[in-house]
Amino acid sequence: MTTADTTPAPENHTFEADVAKLLHLMVHSVYSDKDVFLRELISNAADACEKLRYEAIANPALFGDDPKARITLLIDADNRRLTVEDNGIGMSRDEMIEALGTIARSGTKAFMDRIQAAQGGEGAQLIGQFGVGFYSAFMVADRVDVVSRRAGSEEATIWSSDGKGSYTVAPAAVDEAPARGTRVILHLMEDTASYTERYRLERIVKEQSGHVPVPISLVEKPGAEPQEIADGAALWVKPRSEITPEDYTDFYRSVAGQFDEPALTVHFRAEGRHEYTALAFVPGSTPFDLFDPDRHGRMKLYVKRVFITDEAELLPRYLRFVRGLVDSADLPLNVSREMIQESPLLAAIKKGVTSRVLSELEKLAQNDAEAYTKVWETFGPVLKEGLYEDFERRSTLLGLGRFKTTASGGGWRSLKDYVGSLKENQTAIYYVTGTDLARLEASPQLEGFRARSIEVLLLPDPVDSFWVTAGVDYEGKPFKSVTQGGADLAQIPLLEAQENTGAPATEAVTGFIQSVKTTLGEAVADVRASERLTESAVCLVASETGMDRQLERLLARAGQLTSAAKPVLEINPRHDLVVALANLGEDQQALREDAAHLLLDEARILDGELPADAKAFSQRLARVMRRCVP
Ligand code: ADP
Ligand code: MG
Repeated sequence: MTTADTTPAPENHTFEADVAKLLHLMVHSVYSDKDVFLRELISNAADACEKLRYEAIANPALFGDDPKARITLLIDADNRRLTVEDNGIGMSRDEMIEALGTIARSGTKAFMDRIQAAQGGEGAQLIGQFGVGFYSAFMVADRVDVVSRRAGSEEATIWSSDGKGSYTVAPAAVDEAPARGTRVILHLMEDTASYTERYRLERIVKEQSGHVPVPISLVEKPGAEPQEIADGAALWVKPRSEITPEDYTDFYRSVAGQFDEPALTVHFRAEGRHEYTALAFVPGSTPFDLFDPDRHGRMKLYVKRVFITDEAELLPRYLRFVRGLVDSADLPLNVSREMIQESPLLAAIKKGVTSRVLSELEKLAQNDAEAYTKVWETFGPVLKEGLYEDFERRSTLLGLGRFKTTASGGGWRSLKDYVGSLKENQTAIYYVTGTDLARLEASPQLEGFRARSIEVLLLPDPVDSFWVTAGVDYEGKPFKSVTQGGADLAQIPLLEAQENTGAPATEAVTGFIQSVKTTLGEAVADVRASERLTESAVCLVASETGMDRQLERLLARAGQLTSAAKPVLEINPRHDLVVALANLGEDQQALREDAAHLLLDEARILDGELPADAKAFSQRLARVMRRCVP
């Protein structure tokens, strides 16, 4: 496009000071994601079509004989040019000067203040996240011409700039302007020439603008036929009755980057104080980034069908596996990341979508237990994070929880199931935490519970150690670790076959337990007879006030614990070995002492730990073994 044959000569204008600054920032943000320029130009084109549609309500003549909105991308690779054209409302000369020569939007102003305050790399990132409208064209073009004709007007104007501080405006020749609407011609820089590659453009459009409400076509080279690359129908805007499961699956795959079927689809429109549409999916399998330490969600935020960002936290972190989008009718299109995070509107949306996702999960659990179990198997460890992070929804989340227990035979039980089969006098929900199920099931601490047929939750995930200690209760029943404090088991009757396990310890055994305590001294907080054990000789538990031992281990490993509390060694007073040791003669003091240390090390090993002093342990073991080898 040249302006040589237009008369009169172009007028020169300088940009408003803010624009000049912005352009400078833009051009120097070399690391930013330049693709966003296309999103900005397409969203402007779509806006112009929407504005025309609105004005044509009062004045249908504006449509002329061309009522169907369209956006066209024209490639001219030979001249390194890319054109974005629409048949929308268009701009008059004055409107162009106003719209393209000044920064009218307060959002952009705030954004600029931010970006100037930000450190270099961060600023570039900000631009990448939020294109700043029309000017982003100068990230890829060293000259931009805008030719526009307002709907219903004869005159057309051409605006032109190199983005370096000034621009020109001049009347455009009739045959150089679109019949209606705006043509933005980008004279691409050498290093951005790849924006004339058809497949590249198609990919970017699908990714960023595939759901704008105006169809987008592409003209591969001058004179070629336009080919539609986006149909202008945003799936989430359609009523649910018109969307097939296949439509949802296709959309899920494109929005989530997954290749499976969604396990749950949540699609609703909120009306009233806040207007938004949400379309969210629970994936059918584990997304690759589920346990990334940043725990970011991937829900996309749209404003009026224009993609804004996928970094807005639209759901709490414990729902980060949910994929999809929220399309708000109330947010301004150009909002900076900070403004989004601080927006009360967004907080309201987050609340609404969270509640809805959880209630849909509840429904699934009720109506299709098998499908829900699968969701829990995949995402349970993440959902459980909500038990200590989201106080408000704790009881909902506890209701959604499914657990392996000593009574579940490998299957899953809800807390409702658990509470429904409490034993006589049982007042707590018992659990054991650890790192793997097999080891948990073998915990000696469980023996006394088994002997009374008391169900115990087996909690193998790291997160379990945290939520169980967050003061949680379910239907008034507190959670209690089987490895902590006295077990309160005496109140609960034993199964008949186990009657004798409750018998009191003999005097000799009581004396032995006392002597073990003397021998071990500072290594333990206490040594006592156990109600918990029926088969094993010993186990370690935390004191009544101490931290759960698994939690303590996790914190110690994370370097968050300076001194670990000492454990309590519990001894089974009815165990064969214990009774025999108790009956040893006075002259066997050395053996008793070795036995005391070995019992403690045995308990440590049962807990998945190492003996405190490996050398002393092996010497003692050798001494004791030597006695029984002839
Ligand atoms: P925003 O779209 O947020 O208003 P932009 O920088 O993208 O900010 O655009 C600035 C203004 O330029 C728009 O508000 C609009 O008035 C005008 N404009 C840009 N592109 C077009 C277009 N294709 N058709 C009509 N007006 C446009
Ligand atoms: Mg815009």
